[in-house]
Amino acid sequence: MQKKLEIIQGDITKATVDAIVNAANEWMLGGGGVDGAIHRAAGAKLLEACKAFPEVRTKVRCPTGDVRITPAFELAAKFVIHTVGPIWRGGHDDEDRLLESCYRRSMQLAVWVGCRSIAFPAISCGAYGFPIRRAADISVRTIQTMLNNGAPLDRVVLIAFERETFQAWQDALSHEHNALT
Ligand code: ADP
Repeated sequence: MQKKLEIIQGDITKATVDAIVNAANEWMLGGGGVDGAIHRAAGAKLLEACKAFPEVRTKVRCPTGDVRITPAFELAAKFVIHTVGPIWRGGHDDEDRLLESCYRRSMQLAVWVGCRSIAFPAISCGAYGFPIRRAADISVRTIQTMLNNGAPLDRVVLIAFERETFQAWQDALSHEHNALT
């Protein structure tokens, strides 16, 4: 089970997996960070596909903690799963549960459309300010729980853009592993 979860350092737009996850914002019309990189690499059709989602509230196409899926257009992946992580507000605004929801629902949606592999960036850990070690623990725990419960995925890849993120995920994975042995 452990082997299915990989941690690598790199650029998620280059990932050769069935689905890559985008740390989007609620409006879903692109932004900075990984969102901007994915839109640039996927091409203009990605923005058109995002615009096609109806606004569920003013300027909200995808509420925080939820997911939407589009084709990946010019990327090597087949799909982009857009999820909106919580903005860190000190930890008393349901941030942990919402971040967990991003990882869980992204995996569920990937399985639903027949994906066998998925790659994640460190959702909420850039502009949204979620503390990286806390986010790393949540992401690793959520993914491992789903894999242990039989989610039919061959590979889940956590892609760290920075060394610090890579280290936080490595540490979270070894804590998780130690807790299980
Ligand atoms: P958020 O608004 O959810 O915090 P950001 O895009 O600002 O999203 O940052 C999320 C994480 O994605 C950060 O750790 C950032 O360094 C990382 N990141 C930025 N560009 C890329 C990329 N091309 N591939 C993978 N991760 C990236």
